[in-house]
Amino acid sequence: MNYNEFVTNCFNQLARKQEELTDKYDLNSYPNWFYDQASGLITFSDDERELNFRYHEVGTFSKGTNTWKWSWDNENTLKKVKQNLEVVKQFGIEYGFDKLTQGLFESSMEEVWDFTSITTKLLNGIGAYRPETERHFIFMVLYELVENEQASEEKEKYIDCEKHERRRRAFVCQHLKKNSKNGFEEAFETYEDMEFEYEDDDFQAWCYECEKVRVEHDGWNDESMEFSDIKLVCEKCYFEIKESNK
Ligand SMILES: [Zn+2]
Ligand SMILES: [Zn+2]
Repeated sequence: MNYNEFVTNCFNQLARKQEELTDKYDLNSYPNWFYDQASGLITFSDDERELNFRYHEVGTFSKGTNTWKWSWDNENTLKKVKQNLEVVKQFGIEYGFDKLTQGLFESSMEEVWDFTSITTKLLNGIGAYRPETERHFIFMVLYELVENEQASEEKEKYIDCEKHERRRRAFVCQHLKKNSKNGFEEAFETYEDMEFEYEDDDFQAWCYECEKVRVEHDGWNDESMEFSDIKLVCEKCYFEIKESNK
C-alpha cells in the first residue's frame, strides 16, 4: 500500500464525514465545548441545548515545538480515550508506515490532520474535532452520539479527587480510612482498572463492624446504612484504602 494514496483517500473521506456531521448536528452553532477523558465524552452546549459524543484522542500538536505526540505515547492521557489507538499503531507496523509507530516527532498542522484522517478511517469515526489549549492543539475523532440522559448517567460515575484528579467513583463506609485497619468487605471481588460486568456495578466496601450490623439486620436497611454512613471516594483512593484495611 502506498502511504500518500492511502492518506489522500482517508483525508477526502474525513472531509465528507465532517461536512455531514456539522450539518446533521449543526455543530458550529454551539458556543461551548467540554471534554472529559475519564468518561470519554465530549459535550457541546449552549444555554438550552447539549450534544454528547464519545471520542478517541488521536494526539496533541505542540504550538511551541511543532511536535506531534500520539495519545498512546502520552502517559497523561487516560486509557479510556487512547486504548483504541493501538489499532492505528498496529496498522503502521503492518504496512511499515513509520509515522504511525513513532510516539513523538517534529511535524506540521497539515500532516497531523493526515494522522487524524487515518484514525477516523481505521476506527470508523463520524468526524473530527480539534480543541485548542494554551500550548496545544488536541486532535479527536468522534465516533458515537450519546443521548443526553445516558451521558449524564455516565458522567456521574466519575468524581474529581483532590489527589488523583478525575477517576471512577467508589463507595466506602465511614470507618474505612487510608491508615485504618478495620477489615474490608466488598460487594464483589475487585481489582484496579477492572471493567465492570454490569452497567450498574460500583466499587463498594465496608468494614467488619458494618458487616456485623448488616448481618444482624439481614442486609442493608435504614439502620445498617446509617451505621455505615457510606462516603464517596475515587477509585485510586478505594484501592489505597483496601490495601490498608483488608
Ligand atoms: Zn464501617
Ligand atoms: Zn483519590
